[in-house]
Amino acid sequence: METLKPATTVWTREGASVERRDLWTALKRGFRCRCPRCGEGKLFRAFLKVDGHCPVCDLDFSHHRADDLPAYLVIVVVGHIVVPLALWIETDYSPPIWLQLSIYLPLTLILSLLLLQPIKGAVVGFQWAMRMHGFDENAPDDIPPV
Ligand SMILES: [Zn+2]
Repeated sequence: METLKPATTVWTREGASVERRDLWTALKRGFRCRCPRCGEGKLFRAFLKVDGHCPVCDLDFSHHRADDLPAYLVIVVVGHIVVPLALWIETDYSPPIWLQLSIYLPLTLILSLLLLQPIKGAVVGFQWAMRMHGFDENAPDDIPPV
């Protein structure tokens, strides 16, 4: 006869006070490169280097896992700006190729550099608001990754 093993641990949130996190507020604060929780502390210590913790509310930023998502989002956004612009200019005015390249290449570079930090901040804000990775203080530490 087969015997059942008892459940090792059951995790509940009873008794834990859960902090309310508004997604849009966190996205906006992250886009402004500010702490998603308090909106005051700086999120970055260098261009794309997220600081270790918020200097105002002491939120630990080390749990963020933005990885390559900000770069992908910047490609999508900048592509949706530059490509229609290039198609419109080509169909209506047909300027010489050197002129087109002298507009589109710097425009793409400048837009990408301008958007990369705010979009990374918004991704960190999204992860905090959705309690992803280690941003849930009430989560037990020993849950294995899925
Ligand atoms: Zn803060």
